[in-house]
Amino acid sequence: MPLQRAMVRRIGLVLAGTVLAALTLPLLVPMWQREDGRTFCYPFLGPVERFNPDLSGSLLARARAHEDAHAAQCRRDGAVWHFVRRLAPSQRLMAEAEAYCAEATFAVANGGQARLEYARVQDELREAGWFHRFSSDVLADALASRCPQLAATAAREEAEWRAARARRRD
Ligand SMILES: [Zn+2]
Repeated sequence: MPLQRAMVRRIGLVLAGTVLAALTLPLLVPMWQREDGRTFCYPFLGPVERFNPDLSGSLLARARAHEDAHAAQCRRDGAVWHFVRRLAPSQRLMAEAEAYCAEATFAVANGGQARLEYARVQDELREAGWFHRFSSDVLADALASRCPQLAATAAREEAEWRAARARRRD
């Protein structure tokens, strides 16, 4: 049917235009005001990671762990699906939860405390503009579902810390 074909072509054109804009716009906008890093996901080329030039040492390593997770998502999903997923807040939340889990896991493997590292990424997820409409419980569940082991360790350490504090007060 010609009408259907025209519609498919129009949708394809809009989608291609949107993807193109999404791929090029970030290069034109100053990106380092609040961000530590960003992963661009290109068709054929794959992921390209960029980092805030002010970062170094352990902060850069953390940002790298986070962006490496996004790069893996890009390779797994492909550029178009990667882009479309990031437009849907619930899908974006899953992608970010996975990346924040990777960041916290990296920090713990390098001597950080699970209790503190987990709380830190939980805060970062809560502060992200994209996720303001989600309740703290939904955000906490998303994070816990991506790294259940780390969440359990953090909860255990938190309970131990509270118990120790209560004992000191007695
Ligand atoms: Zn991220």
